[in-house]
Amino acid sequence: MAEPNSSYDLCTNSVEMVEVGPRDGLQNEALAVSTADKLELIRRSLAAGVRRIEAASFVNPRAVPQMADAEAVCAGLPERGDVTYIGLVLNRRGAERAIATGRIDQLGAVAVATDGFAMANQGQTSDGSVEVSQEIVALARAAGLTGQATISAAFGCPFEGEVGEDRVLAMALALAKADPLEIALADTIGVGDPGRVQRLVTSVREAIAPIPVRVHFHNTRGTGLANVWAAVQAGARVVDASLGGLGGCPFAPGAAGNVATEDVVYMLERAGIATGLDLAALVETNRWFAGVMGKELPAMVAKARAFPPASAK
Ligand code: ZN
Repeated sequence: MAEPNSSYDLCTNSVEMVEVGPRDGLQNEALAVSTADKLELIRRSLAAGVRRIEAASFVNPRAVPQMADAEAVCAGLPERGDVTYIGLVLNRRGAERAIATGRIDQLGAVAVATDGFAMANQGQTSDGSVEVSQEIVALARAAGLTGQATISAAFGCPFEGEVGEDRVLAMALALAKADPLEIALADTIGVGDPGRVQRLVTSVREAIAPIPVRVHFHNTRGTGLANVWAAVQAGARVVDASLGGLGGCPFAPGAAGNVATEDVVYMLERAGIATGLDLAALVETNRWFAGVMGKELPAMVAKARAFPPASAK
């Protein structure tokens, strides 16, 4: 049983990382990454300690050509009993596709905080996206999988601007009725700040307990790491990140991408919060993946010298 909200222990010495590179990291890249390279990215992520990873999204391939090979990626996933493969889905059709692969362990549904973004991203209203997300969580459970939900544009919308914290809270309460594994707050366009993150994570966490809060930040305006820190201090225990910091949003041009896995791991581990990931292996993967993408990746830590230096050990 969960402890009463008032006695929730905000101190933590570990956080669970969810690697979103193969999905969010790639979905908006102009370069078409091959199925083989996606699978190599997944294999290298697992070798670096990742145990939960967004393998693909099951969306309309005309809308998101980078994810057209979702089924092929799933067919090639390493068979690992200790890894949770997540399939992102926006509707019943996507959920059925993900379940049919037989390789996805968890469905991730997306509810959008505003009507403007919900219509542009998935052709439905904000309320409609909440209903569909509830349905997806139920479909996952009926198929013997787990299901979780993300509240997208929770910190701001590219079309409607500010998003009320009460709106996000109401959505979280509605989603909680479907009893998802967790509910994530996503700063899809990277406009969040640590003060608001602290408030919103706290209020949502208290409202949906014992369902945990996950967070998903984009570093569009440089606040990504500060937001991760604020969220963890406010009681979020699961953090999305993308290897190398890739990951734009079609509605957030110029976006710097998701917070980089390497940078989040460096920050948290230096601060005494374990992530279970191997920083040196992540940096090595960054170098390999930069070659695949033909460009330097946004992550900061991989550009700097290792610290502490190996000779000082
Ligand atoms: Zn994202």
